[in-house]
Amino acid sequence: MRLSEPFPATPIQRLDDFLGNQIYIKRDDLFPLSFGGNKARKAVLFFQEIERQNSDAVVTYGSAASNHCRVVANLAAALQCRCLIISPEGANDSFNRQLCAEFGAELIACPLDHVSATIDQTMAFLRAEGSRPFFIPGGGHGNLGTRAYDLVCDEIAGEERRRGLRFDYIFLASGTGTTQAGLICGSQRLGENPRRVVGISIARQLPRGAQVILESVREYRGEGAPEDIVFVDRYIEGGYGQFDDAISKTIRDVMRRHGVPLDPTYTGKAFCGMRRFLQESRVNDKNVLFIHTGGTPIFFDWLEKTR
Ligand SMILES: *Cc1c(COP(=O)(O)O)cnc(C)c1O
Repeated sequence: MRLSEPFPATPIQRLDDFLGNQIYIKRDDLFPLSFGGNKARKAVLFFQEIERQNSDAVVTYGSAASNHCRVVANLAAALQCRCLIISPEGANDSFNRQLCAEFGAELIACPLDHVSATIDQTMAFLRAEGSRPFFIPGGGHGNLGTRAYDLVCDEIAGEERRRGLRFDYIFLASGTGTTQAGLICGSQRLGENPRRVVGISIARQLPRGAQVILESVREYRGEGAPEDIVFVDRYIEGGYGQFDDAISKTIRDVMRRHGVPLDPTYTGKAFCGMRRFLQESRVNDKNVLFIHTGGTPIFFDWLEKTR
């Protein structure tokens, strides 16, 4: 694996119109690395830093179904870097979990309230062994993660030029908010007339969800506050990983009509939320871009659950 090779831009496809809006989807699930997605984009920047610092071990944190942990474990295996993953106990099985083990990551379980202590102990233990460990925050949070999606805005602007249009709205599944922070920074960097970047929360509630995004934007840019952060917590359906029939129906509908797999935890929840938002806010005749942030292994978890 060579991280210095540039990755090609992911495609943007037009889907069916919805309530008079032109809906497009950016297929970041096709980012060509470990089933793609936003975690793959972020991980590339983290591993470039790992190579630069000549680290020989990587430590990160995530839930059992974490896309982030799967991508980190895959890149670590490819680059022959030791990988230690800390997860809360009682984690359910998932394809992402299975892949982490397959890639040879060392999986460490601990009680939820011992996570940060366990991270510290693991880093200290590795250093004591003479290793040079690198810590990646859960979900790829932090400036490098934000940068990944600041840069994606150049891909989006290129597509706008080719198609001769401008996306009025960008929708995405928002978790730690790093991806949304990057899209806000990039849109403002490039546009005189900033578009609306709407994060559909997959778990967090207001005001915290929006506050964390604001902090990410400030930390990344070092000055100035963005206008308003649009973080919608109305469609979380009971919290992280919880989904209802409307979300399952959306996943089936988008798969059948467009051949695009969504998952119930992130993209299916957000796509369903986007449709409801457009309807409830009476958005009409706009160009709308949905960022498909990946998570394909969770689509297969969903298939098993709904069998
Ligand atoms: C992690 C994840 C998100 C959320 O990204 P954040 O940057 O944490 O907000 C969205 N979609 C998928 C598929 C993810 O794995």
